[in-house]
Amino acid sequence: MASVAIANVTKSYAGLEVLHGVSVDIPDGQFVVLVGPSGCGKSTLLRMIAGLEDISGGTISIGAKVVNDLPPKQRDISMVFQNYALYPHMTVAENMAFSMTLAKAPKAEKAARVAKAAEILSLTPLLDRYPRQLSGGQRQRVAMGRSIVRNPQVFLFDEPLSNLDAKLRVAMRAEIKALHQRLKTTTVYVTHDQVEAMTMADQIVVMNDGRVEQIGTPLELYDHPANIFVATFIGSPG
Ligand code: ADP
Ligand code: MG
Repeated sequence: MASVAIANVTKSYAGLEVLHGVSVDIPDGQFVVLVGPSGCGKSTLLRMIAGLEDISGGTISIGAKVVNDLPPKQRDISMVFQNYALYPHMTVAENMAFSMTLAKAPKAEKAARVAKAAEILSLTPLLDRYPRQLSGGQRQRVAMGRSIVRNPQVFLFDEPLSNLDAKLRVAMRAEIKALHQRLKTTTVYVTHDQVEAMTMADQIVVMNDGRVEQIGTPLELYDHPANIFVATFIGSPG
């Protein structure tokens, strides 16, 4: 595990600034949710942590290391996307093992990691199935399994549940939280859904229009929203 420090980070696309100096400290092992309306910059910030977008200004550190100039593969992170494309011609086990292609671990250890991830995610009976033989929730679990087997320092999730129906979405929230309680991997989770944020987060970062409006626990935001935006967005009476 590792902490993630985002210090005064800016991002411009073709001269237009979309992140205006964002600072967030994510302690080792915490589950932090970035929440805010569509277009406020959540995915951009997450992609910068992953190394998928250049950083225009400021610094991002993972553990003790400033990662601004490190390519994604050299950052100890693993990202779960909303459109969790699995390889259709590979079994569940092969899909998970494939994400370790570049890892230096011996074959036996890789197999052990797949077995452990499958056990944690209740996928053991499904290891030989192909993606088309799985339900939406099972596919999402395989996508998480692909991240787990890499043993990353940090998990990044970008709206992983938004393609699932309402009932499954609620069930998967609990599964992701249970996974975090078991592995205690530092997690940055992006959603535009305030209920998801309130039910899952240790700390919530409320973003609006490229800025951080407030950082706090769900209770702190509910009881002491910093401004009208936070109060309205979170839906607290304050
Ligand atoms: P969110 O994930 O919160 O919905 P994004 O991070 O996707 O927001 O987008 C933040 C802002 O940056 C938006 O105004 C969006 O239009 C803009 N943006 C995102 N990606 C690009 C890009 N590749 N080129 C230009 N503008 C972009
Ligand atoms: Mg987004």
